[in-house]
Amino acid sequence: MPAGSVSNIIMPAVLATVGLLVAAYPASAQKCQDSQQFRPWLADLKAEALAGGISARTWATAAPQLVFDPAIVRKDRAQGVFSQTFLQFSDRMVAQYRLDQGRANLRKLKSTFDRIETQFGVPGPVISAFWGLETDFGQVLGNDSTLKSLTSLAYDCRRPAKFRPQLIDALRLIENGDLQASQMIGAWAGELGQMQFLPTEYYHVSVDYDGDGKRDLLKSRADALASGANLMKSFGWRRGEPWLEEVKVPTRMDWAQADLAVEHPRSRWKTSGVRYADGRPIPGDGLKASLLLPMGHKGPAFLAYPNFRMFLEWNQSLVYSTTAAYFATRLAGAPKVSRGGKINSLSHQQIRQLQRILVARGFDVGKVDGIPGRRTRAAVKVVQQRLGLPADSYPTAELLARLQ
Ligand code: CA
Repeated sequence: MPAGSVSNIIMPAVLATVGLLVAAYPASAQKCQDSQQFRPWLADLKAEALAGGISARTWATAAPQLVFDPAIVRKDRAQGVFSQTFLQFSDRMVAQYRLDQGRANLRKLKSTFDRIETQFGVPGPVISAFWGLETDFGQVLGNDSTLKSLTSLAYDCRRPAKFRPQLIDALRLIENGDLQASQMIGAWAGELGQMQFLPTEYYHVSVDYDGDGKRDLLKSRADALASGANLMKSFGWRRGEPWLEEVKVPTRMDWAQADLAVEHPRSRWKTSGVRYADGRPIPGDGLKASLLLPMGHKGPAFLAYPNFRMFLEWNQSLVYSTTAAYFATRLAGAPKVSRGGKINSLSHQQIRQLQRILVARGFDVGKVDGIPGRRTRAAVKVVQQRLGLPADSYPTAELLARLQ
């Protein structure tokens, strides 16, 4: 990730494929630093890798990097918590230089992007948004040994079930001839290449698009961009449909409808008074959409279409996903988002405070982590409804004050 700026939110990206592998994982995956010395742990890993089709030769080329580095674990423990608002984050990430570079790349690589869209159905601006956010269009790929990072994170007891299969798939990439062990240099948490794929998505989803027989997401731009498109396609991208459009909402409406879990045909949003941001009417057709208010009813407003879910598959953080989808609309020609009125968003500490209050009132908010995730927002909505406040699911200082 560029300058580590989004490492903490890229990390939780959970792919369906990864989930399956974790579920099917043997008991040996539970062994980690607390219960096993490193050498026997590595011997177990080797046995598992060889049984899984990794050759002794591949193991030997990887072996020098299959070491435990406590510095990687310290980085994992020290990850900052992501609690920026959509506008704070998108102001920073959708910076002018990135828009300029993204637009220039779309022009320069037009024929590649056209070919990719024809084959995979995913438009250039969508792929470019991730390409820009993840690595500044392939310029910042990271400096850590992927094998060392994954070995360290798999041996650490925090999330071995996530990282051990990643490590095995990293070995499969070598076995398959896509990369040599020495080429596997990326982000400290194991993401690799211009689109920052973890080895499991790299192994299962990436494609060779320049025809050299190898899937090289580090050096081959064509491979990286087509693989990004194929990942979105594998999530279920719907060809030719929009993903996100900025809208204006009336000052009064049933805010409880503004929820990603609620979908209505555009005709119904139109009847509720929703218009495009520039005042034009939205089509009164049957295309389904959710009303997304990333900062509540006073902030920016979007119609989020079924394709928006694919952004959430890429990264489950709502702020990251909304930013990536918004960046893609900007690359596709949309103007700057309207900033809305004054919004008293909560700090990280205040969100924790709110989460503790919600837990004390019997709500399940997941982890008390200072991040207003899906469950926290759902609890906020219920509380807002009980208090007779606009039920837009967005936690504000006013809400916290009422609850205290
Ligand atoms: Ca290739």
